[in-house]
Amino acid sequence: MTGPLPEGWLEEHPYLRPIAGLCARVDRAVSELGLGEVAAPALDGYRDDFEAGIPLLASPHAPVDLEAAAAAVGDLVRSLQAGPLPAPISGEMSALAEDLARDPERSRRLVPFLLGDDSVEAPSPGLLRFLGWMTLARALRAVVEGFGGWRDEERWLRRYCPSCGAGPTMGQIAGTDPARHRLLCCGRCRTRWRWRRTQCPFCENDSHRLAGIKVEGEPALRIDHCTECRGYLKTYVGQGEESLLLADWTSLHLDLLAQERGLERKATSLYDMESLRGG
Ligand SMILES: [Zn+2]
Ligand SMILES: [Zn+2]
Repeated sequence: MTGPLPEGWLEEHPYLRPIAGLCARVDRAVSELGLGEVAAPALDGYRDDFEAGIPLLASPHAPVDLEAAAAAVGDLVRSLQAGPLPAPISGEMSALAEDLARDPERSRRLVPFLLGDDSVEAPSPGLLRFLGWMTLARALRAVVEGFGGWRDEERWLRRYCPSCGAGPTMGQIAGTDPARHRLLCCGRCRTRWRWRRTQCPFCENDSHRLAGIKVEGEPALRIDHCTECRGYLKTYVGQGEESLLLADWTSLHLDLLAQERGLERKATSLYDMESLRGG
């Protein structure tokens, strides 16, 4: 989420205030890091990897230097720890700051951890992933934009992010008929990419169309779900309000609704933190 959240949204969804406050705080702290934009790589040597389904940041043929951004995550943790935080997060933040200070190797292993290497152990992995990707997403804006312009969308059509390899966090139906199309949205690096209109992005079942549940009071949002694997994807129907409606946390109430209906969240989450679950 970048930019201020419309106050009206919080008036209608007052239970989102704590997480809105946390996200605004982190957003501010990230912008105060004075991060440089990571330079977009030359993409000619990456074409074969792209065709083979290797995400940009996992390819050795289009090196993207993430080290400076990863090193800034430690600064972010220290700056957040220095200010007031809600109680459950505050304890977790201090423990994380201590761990990062104790182990200088940690920041070297941060990039593989953030790119999904499960063999890298991390303290408070949920919080670290959240703070790490808030930082990386900011630093990667030019890379993601340049890559978006280069990519032939019809030649990806995979259920993971072409930039960073994460599964989708949300979906979007954009455009008007006959050019209406489905996009998947990465909650980590904020790439949006093309996906088939009717296919499940989790089990790839294509024999049953995705079913949509309309949500009362939320005309622009719906819960698309698969009758085969019971996975659901919160979907924004429209364009222009991406920063609000694709932020994932702004529609956490839809996750509750979906789960009440026995559906399963298979979408990637950046808000999977111990201290958020507790409070
Ligand atoms: Zn991504
Ligand atoms: Zn499915």
